[in-house]
Amino acid sequence: MPHQPVGATKMSGEMDKPLISHHLMESDSSLAEIPSQAFKVGILGSGDFARSLATRLVGSGFSVVVGSRHPKRAAGLFPSGAQVTFQEEAVSSPDIIFVAVFREHYSSLCGLSDPLAGKILVDVSNPTEQEHFQHRKSNAEYLASLFPTCTVVKAFNVISAWTLQAGPRDGNRQVPICSDQPEAKHTVSELAHAMGFTPVDMGPLASARELEAMPLRLFPSWKVPALLALGLFVCFFLYNFVRDVLQPYVREDKNKFYKLPVSVVNTTLPCVAYVLLSLVYLPGVLAAALQLRRGTKYRRFPDWLDHWLQHRKQIGLLSFFCAALHALYSFCLPLRRSHRYDLVNLAVKQVLANKSHLWIEEEVWRMEIYLSLGVLALGTLSLLAVTSLPSIANSLSWREFSFIQSTLGFVALVLSTGHTLTYGWTRAFEESFYKFYLPPTFTLTLLVPCVVILAKGLFLLPCFSRRLAQIRRGWEREGAFQRVLPADCALTEKTSHV
Ligand code: NAP
Repeated sequence: MPHQPVGATKMSGEMDKPLISHHLMESDSSLAEIPSQAFKVGILGSGDFARSLATRLVGSGFSVVVGSRHPKRAAGLFPSGAQVTFQEEAVSSPDIIFVAVFREHYSSLCGLSDPLAGKILVDVSNPTEQEHFQHRKSNAEYLASLFPTCTVVKAFNVISAWTLQAGPRDGNRQVPICSDQPEAKHTVSELAHAMGFTPVDMGPLASARELEAMPLRLFPSWKVPALLALGLFVCFFLYNFVRDVLQPYVREDKNKFYKLPVSVVNTTLPCVAYVLLSLVYLPGVLAAALQLRRGTKYRRFPDWLDHWLQHRKQIGLLSFFCAALHALYSFCLPLRRSHRYDLVNLAVKQVLANKSHLWIEEEVWRMEIYLSLGVLALGTLSLLAVTSLPSIANSLSWREFSFIQSTLGFVALVLSTGHTLTYGWTRAFEESFYKFYLPPTFTLTLLVPCVVILAKGLFLLPCFSRRLAQIRRGWEREGAFQRVLPADCALTEKTSHV
């Protein structure tokens, strides 16, 4: 029988409203109670995925028949609306059959070749990382080679059994689908749509390898930013350790190792947050400088700059994470026993020195401004973090989004610089703050942010800002870019991310 698209009459319902009435789902058993026009879907396998899929399909108004090697044992685990029977019987009537078994057991299904002939097989499998590299052929292509008379469609492998059962949520509604047969792909797409998912056409079955690699990915876009943050943390932690713990131990024989868990971590976190925030804006500055120098926006940036520009969101979120941790640690500082002893000792010193009133006006002002700038910077960073969430970002216009991310982000950088400067105050100019000849940590952190702020200020000058605006509207300096590229170069040309 040719693959007939799942009719709109049967699959027009929305996800959250089951297409069949509730009493049918709850009533005891058999397909006899399901209206005869309900579209029938088969499932091979009775494991976790098969159970969740059956629940979802029944909930979406489909008639489901499950094929198992041990139907009696499996029947109790399925919703009452699904029929559980032997494999051969299960595949006889539906035109679409989900293969919910692992690749290594595909060959055990070969006995079903005849009843499966001409039908659509939906491959939902995911390989392990080892299998993915071990096999040249994707699972779906392997299934297609075992069943040449069937049409194999790769789909649903990125959806977990849990998501299937719970219903699609905002984050993982998309179901990439690929097949060599457009009609079969269309049928499965309609099925996915009726189940409340968003089908995404990924082309021919050859794309199955790419689809199967998707669930194996572990935060691919976070690797470099996370390593960068970790690297900065280790460097600043060691630097602070040498200055705040090692130096007093070596030079004054004072044991300050107790500072490691809270104090040193808390002086390290703001350094990382601040430098990371400046690294969000540095590539934009470099890109602008490059465009000014080249006199065109049509030449691609070097790969490293392009990648850097693409990772700005992750770097910014990591900066926010470190800043939030710094705020939490700072709240905890007065809770430490060492802090209480320090306070008492200071009070005793005051009494012994016969000083009754300790009040240094400059210190009071410095601290007030320092704290206020810190709170403002964290507040602005929180706004940036929230608006980078897809659900919020999608509700903003491009202008609103770029105002928050670019203008407010830069304001956050300026506020953080104020916070750092009021923290450091005159320490950079006092010899006693140079431990082992190492300058105070805050002076090091100021380097990149100050470059970014100065460069941004420079680009605001009319001579630069006007030229930049022209370039970004497509103006080109005479001979800046030869439009005719050699063939291989033209292929690698990428779009700028600025
Ligand atoms: P599972 O719980 O181990 O179920 C696998 C099923 O395969 C068994 O229940 C068994 O059912 C059936 N089967 C058929 N022939 C078999 C044989 N020769 N030997 C052993 N079992 C055989 O696995 P699962 O988690 O449901 O996963 C099934 C497929 O879905 C896998 O390809 C997996 O990659 C894919 N998947 C799973 C998830 C998930 O969240 N679990 C998500 C995406 C994709 P009978 O005993 O009734 O025949």
